Amino acid sequence: MLSPGNSSDCIVGFLDDTYDVYNRLAFINYTAKYNLKHSVRTLSNDHYGTLSATCSLLKDGIVALLGPRTEANSQIVRSVCYSKDIPHIETRWDDNLQKSSFTVNMSPHPEVYSSIIAALVRSKGWKSFALFYDDRSSLSRITGLLKVVWESTIFIKRLDPKNSGNYRPALKEARKNGYTRFVIDCDIDRLSAVLMQALQIGLMVRENSYIITNLDLQTINLEPYKYSETNITGLRMVNPDSEAAIMLADSIHDTQYAYLDGFHEPIRDILSNDIRLETALLMDGLHLLHLALESLPKNTDSCISSSLCYNDLSYHHGATILGSLKMITFNGITGPVKLDNFGCRREFQLDIVELHESGLITVGSWHVENGITYLATGDEKLDNLENNNFTVITTLTAPYGMLKESEKPLSGNDRFEGFAIDIIHELSLIEKFNYTIIIREDKANGDWNNATGQWSGMIGDVLKGVAHLAIADLTITSERKEAVDFTTPFLNLGVSILYRKPTKALPNFFSFAAPFAVEVWMWIGGAYFVTSMSLFIMGRLCPSEWTNPYPCVENPEYLINQFSMKNSFWFMLGSILQQGSEIAPIGYATRMTAGAWWFFTLIMVSTYTANLAAFLTTESSDRPFNDVYDLIKKADKLGIKYGAKAKGATEAFFRGSRNDEFKQVYNYFDAHPDVMVKENHDGVVRADKGHYAFFMESVSIEYEVQRFCRLTQVGEMLDDKGYGIAMIKNATYRHRLNTALLKLQENGKIMELKRKWWEERRGGGQCGTERKTDEAPPLTLKHVGGVFWVTVGGTAVAILLVFLEMLAYILKKSVRHKKPFWIEVREEFKFYFKCRGLVKPVRYLEHTANESRSPMTGENRIEQLPDKRGSEQKDEDINYEFLPDIANMKS
Ligand code: GLU
Repeated sequence: MLSPGNSSDCIVGFLDDTYDVYNRLAFINYTAKYNLKHSVRTLSNDHYGTLSATCSLLKDGIVALLGPRTEANSQIVRSVCYSKDIPHIETRWDDNLQKSSFTVNMSPHPEVYSSIIAALVRSKGWKSFALFYDDRSSLSRITGLLKVVWESTIFIKRLDPKNSGNYRPALKEARKNGYTRFVIDCDIDRLSAVLMQALQIGLMVRENSYIITNLDLQTINLEPYKYSETNITGLRMVNPDSEAAIMLADSIHDTQYAYLDGFHEPIRDILSNDIRLETALLMDGLHLLHLALESLPKNTDSCISSSLCYNDLSYHHGATILGSLKMITFNGITGPVKLDNFGCRREFQLDIVELHESGLITVGSWHVENGITYLATGDEKLDNLENNNFTVITTLTAPYGMLKESEKPLSGNDRFEGFAIDIIHELSLIEKFNYTIIIREDKANGDWNNATGQWSGMIGDVLKGVAHLAIADLTITSERKEAVDFTTPFLNLGVSILYRKPTKALPNFFSFAAPFAVEVWMWIGGAYFVTSMSLFIMGRLCPSEWTNPYPCVENPEYLINQFSMKNSFWFMLGSILQQGSEIAPIGYATRMTAGAWWFFTLIMVSTYTANLAAFLTTESSDRPFNDVYDLIKKADKLGIKYGAKAKGATEAFFRGSRNDEFKQVYNYFDAHPDVMVKENHDGVVRADKGHYAFFMESVSIEYEVQRFCRLTQVGEMLDDKGYGIAMIKNATYRHRLNTALLKLQENGKIMELKRKWWEERRGGGQCGTERKTDEAPPLTLKHVGGVFWVTVGGTAVAILLVFLEMLAYILKKSVRHKKPFWIEVREEFKFYFKCRGLVKPVRYLEHTANESRSPMTGENRIEQLPDKRGSEQKDEDINYEFLPDIANMKS
């Protein structure tokens, strides 16, 4: 016996006559969720026992009673509840439509359900079919079908449970009569055996079709029939992917552990797919009761009933609770819950499912207003999507899908907001379809699992028919495209790196050299050396550079040259440092060389100055790495880890890449599972802490860097792809959705939504728009190569000129001395290639040789000039020559 602990605890009674569902569910802690306490009585099959169990519950002060499940027991409980004003909630299939006024039933109304089965058969256009049923409750479901009799030929046969589970004779008879379409209505515990026997006798073939009326079809093992190509259609009231169903599965699982703990029995995981309709109805019934109790006044005695079987009292709030039970509507595990004035459930929603290789797929739905609507999946394209009901799955990944922040409790689609949610909403406005958003809690977008041979995440959900559409940051990849269809992309992106912003670098000691790249400095050095050497050589070769050291002496004894090696280098250095020197070239060739160098100097110095200014005004930064290649090389040395979202498109990109470096990234992921994160947000938080580079998609990076101001994108995008909406292959609505998406793109709606969610909402624009302070890049040879070529060109012209000048001079000399030209050439070159000595003796003609002019007095003197190589050596080779024009040329 149980008594209410305090005024807010209401006790609800359970009558369990199967030692099954209710008994197990009784261990779920309702108190936390519903503020209800439970009191359970187990029933045997005698009426007196039922009556005394009900009366004993009344003693506990129950405010409502749930159960039992069998009809015989139910009659007694109903009449007790009716006489004591105790609201009574049933979940069983009730084909006895006479109800007492204190009983409500959560299961679909038999009349309505029967008409749905008839509509389903009619929608398939079946003109003849075999109908198998198994008990009396079956009959109430198939009465609707019997109305189809006049349109069709029906073969009706009972699957007699007394036949020790052998249904083959009935099935064979239908086959013998040539039936290929079958409607099967039987208890879920027998359904597996019926289908298995149909398979055994060869009735599960491509040509055959089945309609299964039992609403628990998804709870049995359909694996053996998946590949038979038989068309198996069923109806489903529990959406195994609804949040409530998943939660329920979890709590049943925990409960079983608690329940069975003492027995140490191993139990398998309960999945939301295993939830039978009656369990779901019970949970929805409790939820409804909980909501109804909210309507009670907050008195201390509201939740206590003092009516007993053997007194005259009845529960004075019973009628209020009952009224509320019939008024309240909500979205439960079994879809929209709404009871009519008689406590019957006539308004509900069903999914029409079909068995495919990937499992049960939703192909349509039934709704009280629209009747049966199919989401056709053939080759035809739908002309419009008006009134189609789509289930849209998404993940709570910012900014694509998020929970709305609101003080008021929200329900349905209203609970969510975000970029993807807005896109679906806009599409629904254009195409006028209805949609229900469901959430994939684990944020898995979809990855192929080799071990299970199945797709996980939202892609798996689309394939299993859990949802018609999947939208989020769902990347279109070639692998996914083989399994599902995508709309055209609504956002374009590529993989990039999210990392901490670089710190500002201290100015470099050699920052003055920064304007030019090292190679340019080297080339400048090379150019300086080569041009100085050219000037030196040309100075020697160029006759005009040999000048009279004493301009007043008309016939000097020797000539001098200013371009020694030292002077040549000094002259060039003076030019490039813009200081000049006292040396001035005289010959055409040397002037040409000097001109080319000055031009080079002018351009290089101005370029250097300009770029230096740019360098001094921008701050350089300490980037640990500049791109993915850099990261791979330096990661170890810098102690940087890198990762991506596990089982996402980014990981798949590296896994499938042929690029060696990218393969290396994947191998690293593989070897270090700790670097992978479950969802993008985890990666972002980790990157923000430092020493972690997160491979992420560029649009998502764009979103995060506006909120995490220490983060930035590093490097370019590594690939080019897009986000799309996924749906099953050859979906007839794909074309319409594509057209609607294109419209949204063309009218700028998508960009508008992107701006809204990226920049304006939820902390957008927090970090401000970063001023682009790109560091000035050092100038490379590509930028200044032309100047070098001009210098080379100038020097080349100078070389040509020097040879011309020299040849003219030698020619003139050979004529004057009447000596063969080549001998003169040889003599000249002999002198030049000594490569030393900047004094050139002068040869004069015989008739003038004896007349020497004193440099001091101007008087003519006959004198043998000392030989520079030694006075004692007689030089027969040298004839001192008179060159009247030398002095003039000097200027
Ligand atoms: N958009 C990715 C996907 O569809 C998830 C994020 C990622 O892998 O970077 O799987």
